[in-house]
Amino acid sequence: MARLVLKFGGTSVANLDRIRNVARHVKREVDAGHQVAVVVSAMAGQTNMLVDLCRQAAPLHDAREYDAVVASGEQVTSGLLAIVLQEMGVNARSWQGWQIPMRTDGAHGAARIGEIDGERLIERISQGQVAVIAGFQGVAPDNRISTLGRGGSDTSAVAIAAAIKADRCDIYTDVDGVYTTDPRIVPTARRLDRVAFEEMLEMASLGAKVLQVRSVEMAMVHGVRTFVRSSFDDPDAPQTGIGNLPPGTLICDEDEIVEQQVVTGIAFAKDEAQISIRNVADKPGVAHAVFGPLAEANINVDMIVQNISPDGKTTDITFTVPETEYDRAMKVLEERRESVGFGAIEGARNVVKVSVIGIGMRSHAGIAAQCFRGLAEKGINIRAITTSEIKISVLIDSAYTELAVRTLHSLYGLDG
Ligand code: ASP
Ligand code: MG
Repeated sequence: MARLVLKFGGTSVANLDRIRNVARHVKREVDAGHQVAVVVSAMAGQTNMLVDLCRQAAPLHDAREYDAVVASGEQVTSGLLAIVLQEMGVNARSWQGWQIPMRTDGAHGAARIGEIDGERLIERISQGQVAVIAGFQGVAPDNRISTLGRGGSDTSAVAIAAAIKADRCDIYTDVDGVYTTDPRIVPTARRLDRVAFEEMLEMASLGAKVLQVRSVEMAMVHGVRTFVRSSFDDPDAPQTGIGNLPPGTLICDEDEIVEQQVVTGIAFAKDEAQISIRNVADKPGVAHAVFGPLAEANINVDMIVQNISPDGKTTDITFTVPETEYDRAMKVLEERRESVGFGAIEGARNVVKVSVIGIGMRSHAGIAAQCFRGLAEKGINIRAITTSEIKISVLIDSAYTELAVRTLHSLYGLDG
């Protein structure tokens, strides 16, 4: 007997037929003797529609009322799945965020989950009742409904798994796992059987869209083993595969990964923009004068490159911001040109950040050099570089995205 959380995304519950299919997956686990909590998203397209209705009602609207509106999508699917399960003879009931309660902070529209008391859920599921939980929603300190930000039901599922001490959190989605890179760009991309939490966190933050970044953070902090699999699998197919799991990817502690590759995956993020400030005074306090105002404006700065000035007087600073923040960042900097004192500001929107990720890099030298050589051989110019213990990121012109990703994918032996 195991205790499981099963999470189903929007495409998996897009209509009643799909919901019936989900119910068969749930029933299979119940019949196998497991204790089951299910977390559901809204039917595909519903959240977009609800967000849009709020915007049409008033472009600037009360975030608390936005939450009241958009949380309704998950209320519908949790109730519908409970009905379908009951119809199939499975003991089930729906739970809304406030009933658990799933406590969050007061940041309506982008709330963060706080403490969840899993006692009531544990009591019910250990009596054999399936808990069908509305994902994406919680209750704020003002006792009003909150939502977790788009894609938030992944995070709901991992948080519930941590709160009820589940053995595993199964994320059923429209792909059958996590790949070495985006298979639409590299057809030889392979599904990974296992990925370490840290690697998945990098991959999710750096552009792989399978899981919400926060859900991976949460899984890593609480050690929730998370399994990504396809909801399109036949629910009645024998559940065999690595360690008795069907095809999919297990995100787990690195100790659970026996055959560790040096490089696990190549991720890329297209929504980056580059800004370079020329002839900035080379003296203490300048970096703060540049990045302080950007932080105050809530603009996330990512890669930063600063040169040592040849004459000891001025230097150049290059950094990246999300493409959506580019105009705002330029404005903030222009306003400070006088006070900070710099020459030209240059920018480029058509850039992409390509990253090579793998925990094996910690113990292998030369991985970065290999990457630079590979890109050079293809004539791809690198605009900026950042590294951490387990990743190397390069900023290049977006026209070369596919070439760069393909080149690195085969260079590190990831082609299947
Ligand atoms: N329905 C919400 C959204 O579309 C939450 C989710 O699906 O994860 O963002
Ligand atoms: Mg999703």
